Amino acid sequence: MRHDLRDLTIIGAGPTGLFALFYAGMRGATAQIVDALDQPGGQLAALYPEKLIFDVAGFPEVLAKDLVHSLVRQAARFGHPIHCGQVVTGLETEADHFVLRTATDEFPTRSILIAAGIGAFSPRRLPQACAAPWYGKGIEEHVLDPARFAGQHVVIIGGGDSAFDWAHQLQGRAASVTLVHRSDRFRAHHATVEAVRADVAAGRTAMHTFHELHDIHAVDGRIHELELRDVKAKTTIRVRCDVVLPMLGFVSDLGALTTWGLTLEKDEIIVNSQMEAGRPGIYAAGDVVTHPGKLKLIATGFSEAAIAVNQAVHFVYPEKKVNPGHSSNLAVFGQKDD
Ligand SMILES: Cc1cc2nc3c(=O)[nH]c(=O)nc-3n(C[C@H](O)[C@H](O)[C@H](O)COP(=O)(O)OP(=O)(O)OC[C@H]3O[C@@H](n4cnc5c(N)ncnc54)[C@H](O)[C@@H]3O)c2cc1C
Repeated sequence: MRHDLRDLTIIGAGPTGLFALFYAGMRGATAQIVDALDQPGGQLAALYPEKLIFDVAGFPEVLAKDLVHSLVRQAARFGHPIHCGQVVTGLETEADHFVLRTATDEFPTRSILIAAGIGAFSPRRLPQACAAPWYGKGIEEHVLDPARFAGQHVVIIGGGDSAFDWAHQLQGRAASVTLVHRSDRFRAHHATVEAVRADVAAGRTAMHTFHELHDIHAVDGRIHELELRDVKAKTTIRVRCDVVLPMLGFVSDLGALTTWGLTLEKDEIIVNSQMEAGRPGIYAAGDVVTHPGKLKLIATGFSEAAIAVNQAVHFVYPEKKVNPGHSSNLAVFGQKDD
């Protein structure tokens, strides 16, 4: 499918891209987002939807998923589309504009903002061959709603923040929670590890360190038990299980973006103070960029998005000023004439 020509196409619907979509609308530009994930929100939606964030201006505290919801709502004011589930793989130039390509679609666009974060990412899979057939049938890669696991026997595999966060969150909601990790060294916040240890001490959660998945046993075509192997003693035990949540981190890949002739340092795009990425009409912002003093934070992504969009609008429409003026004074919001 070939979409309509837009002034700006944003790659990535993380917080940076979502705010950029709003900003493009505010500047009167036609815009759209293309994102690899099935839903907007980037890392916030995929990795930590239930975590509280404390350092976003104006929010004393906000759940990551609620911040995403607010950003989507803010951007929706201008009705510009967010195309989810599409990985941008190709960039071509046609006459006076670019064309971005995914496996199925073409997105003609006058300018581009790359807000691709750490790349199109996907959860790291369990290495054991016995796991492969159970993905989507009891092994869940995306945990979005804890309520979904009510009354289920849940086994979480991993030793990082996500594993501990979800072990603690699901305790009391799931029928049982079992945490499995290959060692006794955890890469999670001390406070969360202590909270889970307290759950274990109180008999509310089970934890098996120095264990890994060995086999999966099913009843009536559904996962019923996991066989876990003690990596030191080489013995196995069985634990009751309806759902496996592998929390092994994720693999991310900037993929084709690294071949577009942009200025790169490792897997980051070097930008100047206008967020220009090394090719006229292509800008970058958020976690994907580097520049002197760069901080990988939501707050800095918002600021970089505003700079990039204002520059892109001026690139597409040179008669439009870079400086947007104050939103409190813009006609687009029904305020005093701009
Ligand atoms: C556990 C955790 C907790 C955090 N807590 C905080 C916090 O408290 N405060 C804070 O400020 N920051 C926090 N961060 C960091 C924050 O989440 C990031 O700085 C922020 O998400 C960066 O936003 P972004 O939009 O630049 O990139 P991302 O959120 O990474 O979004 C990038 C999007 O681009 C998409 N994409 C990439 N490549 C392609 C492609 N080729 N085609 C299509 N789509 C593509 C991806 O699918 C993704 O949706 C935390 C991060 C983690 C992991």
